[in-house]
Amino acid sequence: MLDSMPPYKPGKAVVSPEGRSYKLSSNESPYGPLPSVVEAVARAATEVHRYPDPGAVRLTEALAERYDVPAGHVALGAGSVAVAQQILAAVGEPGADVMYAWRSFEAYPLLADLSGARSIRVPLREETHDLDAMADALTPETRLVFVCNPNNPTGTVNRTEELRRFLGRVPGDVTVVLDEAYREYVRDADVPDGLALYREHPNVAVLRTFSKAYGLAGLRVGYLIGHEPVAAAVRKTLLPFAVNHLAQAAAIASLHAEDELLERVETVIKERTRVREALLSQGWTVPPTEANFVWLRLGERTMEFAAKCAAVGVAVRPFDGEGARVSIGDPEANDVFLAVAQAFV
Ligand SMILES: *Cc1c(COP(=O)(O)O)cnc(C)c1O
Repeated sequence: MLDSMPPYKPGKAVVSPEGRSYKLSSNESPYGPLPSVVEAVARAATEVHRYPDPGAVRLTEALAERYDVPAGHVALGAGSVAVAQQILAAVGEPGADVMYAWRSFEAYPLLADLSGARSIRVPLREETHDLDAMADALTPETRLVFVCNPNNPTGTVNRTEELRRFLGRVPGDVTVVLDEAYREYVRDADVPDGLALYREHPNVAVLRTFSKAYGLAGLRVGYLIGHEPVAAAVRKTLLPFAVNHLAQAAAIASLHAEDELLERVETVIKERTRVREALLSQGWTVPPTEANFVWLRLGERTMEFAAKCAAVGVAVRPFDGEGARVSIGDPEANDVFLAVAQAFV
């Protein structure tokens, strides 16, 4: 089985001949960690001869308080990709089907393959999850559905009414995981906070991460908020000590610094608007995006475009034959990318 699995392709950094490098390939925050977070990590570094708190009690309680949910509804992992793997370990079983839209987050097929589940991929419609088609494609074996909102790599969203209709059609014994890795970047008021849907539906769980808006991609911490028994099952699948001491400390400090971090998100959103409008005026077609990236459906020209970007030090995330995802960076990085786009269109 492993021989037939494609490896996960991480976003790579590239360097121009002049030594310039702009990494717009992994949807990371363009900002370094806040001083208060660095301080918390430094303090925690003096304690790493000890094992971390295996239950991550303080972080779990901080999240429970932040979102006004019972601590028993919180489950952590070493990044939300790891949490997604834990969910599959918890609800997957031989012969189970796992459903997701395609194209969506590249980790889903890998995780499904690793768990031994069968993947049901439902094509996007107009670059967006086709929730009616997904409901139609449910099988008696479907145990889990991922809904990535906003979708990676297209940045598109599904709104409250269609999500409610979809959830009304999903049987109660199928777990629906709303992957909200980019939730903090959403400004469309018709996009529901997944936590509202979790409160309405016992089979809905929300997946969030400290990797993107909170800027802790290098530390690996993500979490699920869901009802018993899903949250309890996901907690049981956590390897002992998987969320390390520095990650726990940094995540707690980040929750304390939330206002400051969300101000940075506003800056990224302003740049997102500027970048998309510039691309549209250059003549590109760019789906409206509620995440910290834009999607260019380049088709056969995808790899050529990625090479042109790389030549000036801009790393983007190409999907050969389909398109390129370009993260919103700082204004300088965005300008370098826009200059390539202008010459290419
Ligand atoms: C980046 C991303 C994640 C976050 O992964 P971590 O393991 O938490 O770093 C999860 N889901 C999607 C859709 C993503 O794009």
